[in-house]
Amino acid sequence: MATEKLIILGGGPAGLSAAIYASRENFNPLVIEGYSPGGQLLLTTTVENYPGFPEGVQGPDLVSDMRKQARRFGARFVQENVTDVDFGARPLKVTAGGKQYGAECVIVATGANAKMLGIDSEARFVGKGVSTCATCDGAFYKAKQVVLVGGGDTAMEDALFLTRFAAMVTIVHRRDSFRASKVMQDRVKASSRIKILWNTVVEEIKGDQKVSSVMLRNVLNGQINEMNTDGVFIAIGYSPNTAPFKGSLAVDENGYIVPRDEVYTNIKGVFVAGDVADHVFRQAATAVGSGVKAALAAREYLLGLEYEK
Ligand SMILES: Cc1cc2nc3c(=O)[nH]c(=O)nc-3n(C[C@H](O)[C@H](O)[C@H](O)COP(=O)(O)OP(=O)(O)OC[C@H]3O[C@@H](n4cnc5c(N)ncnc54)[C@H](O)[C@@H]3O)c2cc1C
Repeated sequence: MATEKLIILGGGPAGLSAAIYASRENFNPLVIEGYSPGGQLLLTTTVENYPGFPEGVQGPDLVSDMRKQARRFGARFVQENVTDVDFGARPLKVTAGGKQYGAECVIVATGANAKMLGIDSEARFVGKGVSTCATCDGAFYKAKQVVLVGGGDTAMEDALFLTRFAAMVTIVHRRDSFRASKVMQDRVKASSRIKILWNTVVEEIKGDQKVSSVMLRNVLNGQINEMNTDGVFIAIGYSPNTAPFKGSLAVDENGYIVPRDEVYTNIKGVFVAGDVADHVFRQAATAVGSGVKAALAAREYLLGLEYEK
């Protein structure tokens, strides 16, 4: 088993930014990028809030260019999922695709996945009216009708945020009460631009090229109704991709890695970046920023090891 200087886990904006910095520093990083090279931005179309693109940029193009930039300076890529790590000894060990890799330093940037409703039609419309990111896509729904699914604090925040654009936000919730904090519920209930459908679930999302309606089922009486809508926002939570790190890295009750001083972890030489440790901001630009910070912290660590030698 050869020992790499730096292995970056994850090929989304955080991992790729770390790879750009680390490869320009001649650390020749190996990026184990998983099965979604590019990450969550592959699931969207126009990104309008990423700095430097006044006309917007397609999410997949943005990450593809980041990848090219990292490759240009020597980053190498392996398209496998990390399934196990051993951070208890040196070199640090990472298992991916049945192969074990050794590393002096590791940056974990495996991101997160939005929880979906689990209905067949939603995948068809991701980026075409179905979104899991109100902050990212709310502005596309000026004066439009949107449905938002969820009942926690994030759902309430998203619904309130969407009222800045949409003519009407209809919250669809499967129970007869929200689990969000009272203060957030009160704000939502006070909004004239938010309607709530209790005891209701989305059965199907319909449309041609884009979403045009949803089929809603009342869970109490089974009645099904079609409702016209321009968009469906799914706000039922995120799952951070941390399964391989549990037991090695400190994670919170929702599975997010708990960073120290932004990008450090409880293990020396293991750094973290992006959505895998961020349940608050979850933006491409913030992931990029933390990827850069993680690469700079990794550089300091690796140079320290060189001096010791
Ligand atoms: C529909 C949608 C639209 C969005 N629109 C915008 C927008 O307009 N503007 C904006 O700023 N942000 C937007 N975002 C948010 C943005 O995409 C994320 O904040 C950002 O991608 C997070 O980057 P990341 O690198 O931390 O993680 P991710 O993008 O989640 O990337 C994670 C990477 O880790 C890899 N991985 C996962 N598990 C493993 C494993 N076990 N082993 C190895 N690799 C693994 C994946 O393959 C992937 O390459 C949007 C998100 C979604 C879902």
